[in-house]
Amino acid sequence: MLTRLFRIHGLFVASHPWEVIVATVTLTICMMSMNMFTGNDQICGWNFDCPKLEEQILSSDIIILTITRCIAIVYIYFQFQNLRQLGSKYILGIAGLFTIFSSFVFSTVVIHFLDKELTGLNEALPFFLLLIDLSKACALAKFALSSNSQDEVRENIAKGMAVLGPTFTLDALVECLVIGVGTMSGVRQLEIMCCFGGLSVLANYFVFMTFFPACVSLVLELSRESREGRPIWQLSHFARVLEEEEDNKPNPVTQRVKMIMSLGLVMVHAHSRWIADPASSNGTLDLPQVGESLHDNVPKRIEPDMPLWHFYLSRMISMDIEQVITLGLALFLAVKYIFFEQVEMESTLSLKVPTPSSMLSQKWSPDQCCRKEVTCSSKPEKTPTPLPVVTKEERDLVIRPLPALKEPEHKSTFVLGEDETQEIVDVSEPVIDVPAEPRPVEDCLSILKNPDMGARYLSDEEVIVLVNLKHIPAYKLEAMMETPERGVMIRRKMLTPKFPEPTALSCLPYKDYDYSKVMGTCCENVIGYMPVPVGVAGPLLLDGKQFQVPMATTEGCLVASTNRGCRAIALGGGANSRVLADAMTRGPVVRLPSACQAAEVKGWLESTEGFKSIKEAFDQTSRFARLERLLIGLASRNLYIRFQSKTGDAMGMNMISKGTEQALARLKEEFPELQVLAVSGNFCTDKKPAAINWIEGRGKSVVCEATIPAKVVKEILKTSTAALVDVNISKNLVGSAMAGSIGGYNAHAANIVAAIYIACGQDPAQTVGSSNCITLMEASGLTGEDLYISCTMPSIELGTVGGGTNLPPQQACLQMLGVLGASLECPGENARQLAKVVCATVLAGELSLMSALAAGHLVKSHMTHNRSKVNLQEAPGTCTKQAS
Ligand code: NAP
Repeated sequence: MLTRLFRIHGLFVASHPWEVIVATVTLTICMMSMNMFTGNDQICGWNFDCPKLEEQILSSDIIILTITRCIAIVYIYFQFQNLRQLGSKYILGIAGLFTIFSSFVFSTVVIHFLDKELTGLNEALPFFLLLIDLSKACALAKFALSSNSQDEVRENIAKGMAVLGPTFTLDALVECLVIGVGTMSGVRQLEIMCCFGGLSVLANYFVFMTFFPACVSLVLELSRESREGRPIWQLSHFARVLEEEEDNKPNPVTQRVKMIMSLGLVMVHAHSRWIADPASSNGTLDLPQVGESLHDNVPKRIEPDMPLWHFYLSRMISMDIEQVITLGLALFLAVKYIFFEQVEMESTLSLKVPTPSSMLSQKWSPDQCCRKEVTCSSKPEKTPTPLPVVTKEERDLVIRPLPALKEPEHKSTFVLGEDETQEIVDVSEPVIDVPAEPRPVEDCLSILKNPDMGARYLSDEEVIVLVNLKHIPAYKLEAMMETPERGVMIRRKMLTPKFPEPTALSCLPYKDYDYSKVMGTCCENVIGYMPVPVGVAGPLLLDGKQFQVPMATTEGCLVASTNRGCRAIALGGGANSRVLADAMTRGPVVRLPSACQAAEVKGWLESTEGFKSIKEAFDQTSRFARLERLLIGLASRNLYIRFQSKTGDAMGMNMISKGTEQALARLKEEFPELQVLAVSGNFCTDKKPAAINWIEGRGKSVVCEATIPAKVVKEILKTSTAALVDVNISKNLVGSAMAGSIGGYNAHAANIVAAIYIACGQDPAQTVGSSNCITLMEASGLTGEDLYISCTMPSIELGTVGGGTNLPPQQACLQMLGVLGASLECPGENARQLAKVVCATVLAGELSLMSALAAGHLVKSHMTHNRSKVNLQEAPGTCTKQAS
């Protein structure tokens, strides 16, 4: 209930920033004006003598005051130093703003209550600075800064208010009441100090609840970056951290103690003020006492004959020793902060930021959501950007802007090949002035079509209008913008309002990705990319060579378990493998007027002459596709022809489809009445479970074996050969038979296949057929206690060229295995090697999982390494719940 109230309040303040700011400032000024503009503008201590001034300030007081001021300055310095650790100048700016305005409100209140005694303010300000707590203000600012849009800023401020408001209110209340006790002490000096303390807390609270959130909302709105529709200062990493930050979560026990304490204190105050001394109860702190004496005295100008400017100048020059000390300390710390810590911070952050503990115990790194660098095998690696916060200046450099109607000044070209040149645009080009309001459609179209201008001279909003009016096809956004990334960004912008959650895409990264490799090859209507964790299992000792196997997965335990299997294999002397067959298949369906005619065609295809004719047509479509066999099935007048061909290092589905089409054209020439129903008649069979792949094989058929000594079985796998053999028969053979499985005579081949496929840019849907595997285990060796294990996988569909293998991160994983691209010595060898690695890694995975099952460890290890630590009951949709 209370939380809702604060949320509503936060939303109101953030949605009406102008109104709230004007109201707060007006109120503050009104308070001042009650003194200053009612004709009684003589502030004591300013340029008017304070009656009994000398009597109030003793030398011991001066020492205490100087020490207090110094402590206050050092305290504020440390607060700002802590904030700097967050790495955002915006947070620093906001904290500064908060301090200044709170001080202003506080000064106003003090002057108002003390009735124009500025000497009181001198004493009060250090107390105020000591009581100011910037952490809550910054926590609220962080909520706001983690937004993607202005609506989200408001929503996040409301959320922040709901989280921080109740705690802050309770804290302020308790502080006020505790400090208030001091005002009843009877010790005059203590009473005054406690009055200052109470006022400090109130001023802080007042500013935190009104002016501050309104100001944050307004500042963020005014600095909105139009080009991407998101604030340049967006600190998306905070979003994840905020809800996890312990400081923001009120501890229920502390809350309860505070509430009980404040109730008690209220009773104490009520008793001493209203019950014990009803006459003096005025509901305020005892401040009038301080100014009482002042009412009786009319202040006199200190130097009535001196002009005001002359008077202030002479006061500034003739400083007391305590003022010199305070000012000196403040200057020293300011210089240290501005000039020396800047350098220190940069070097520390560049080392610290990527580590998890450095940023608010952040569990991942920022735009961490966002990949910073695409590293390609052929490109040198860059040092990752240390800070997630991008400055305005930095952004201006990377959005490739160009001057309004000015020719780019720093264009250069470099030669790639004999007739291949590529233009590069210097990033230091000036900014294009794109109008805030969309121009008429005709103007936009002529800019778009102008070869000297193009899409970069249009604002995002103008591009969206052109897409909505179908002048730019939505699917062509990447191709028609000056950079594919801008196309992706605009598509996201257009889609965002259509999602149930406007923040839906905030954690799906899209920046710094080489979309040129995706366009026209790997994906359409791109809105970003999906980062998946990649682990490594190895060394895998296979055929006398060691491999480090990349595995992209979100299943905890999988990599660790496979790694254990690899270790057992290596300790047993390694695994050995052979490729039994290498041929991709495509199975079109054709129809003939009758079953008899279909049988006639079947006969012709099976004849030497027929096969030769078809092969000739097929083979001419590629340098690598070579037709090896035709397997023909007949169902009534339908004919199913399974074309089987080597495909070099390519997985080969496109390649072989092309060949099949040509071959069918040749067949139709021979039998004009033949009708091609579909180039794929499911007789292939691609991406569906089918016995034909299990029996006939598809892609690479591989067998892999290893012998694990009894000692390794016992010490590494924590089981025995007898138990493993028994579980293997009961589970992988009998169990799968009981389930009517086809090709599923294994424990979890698909786990390993999928993880390697995703890491190495294979078609993940082909995990279906590629996971066909029979795992066999036998007792072996002289004592019969060693374990002989083998995996036979007849249909591993993969390649090292084409499809997703063209993408740089996937290429990195292929490179880890030494199978990137086409094999120059022997086409197809890289793909075959990859298939052998897949089969051997499956064997490692089988070994480890079967051992865990035999030893009864499976559930325990999954509970430890695979159970999500995230509270699954929490509302979905925020980045805190997503690690991307
Ligand atoms: P592809 O990229 O379409 O074809 C391979 C290309 O690489 C060919 O142009 C080939 O030359 C060339 N190449 C150069 N060196 C080679 C070498 N050493 N070995 C083999 N080829 C070499 O790749 P694909 O494997 O045929 O098709 C893979 C894509 O098909 C994937 O994106 C996959 O998702 C998709 N797919 C398609 C279907 C379908 O029904 N069409 C089904 C499933 C998956 P040539 O021009 O001389 O052949």
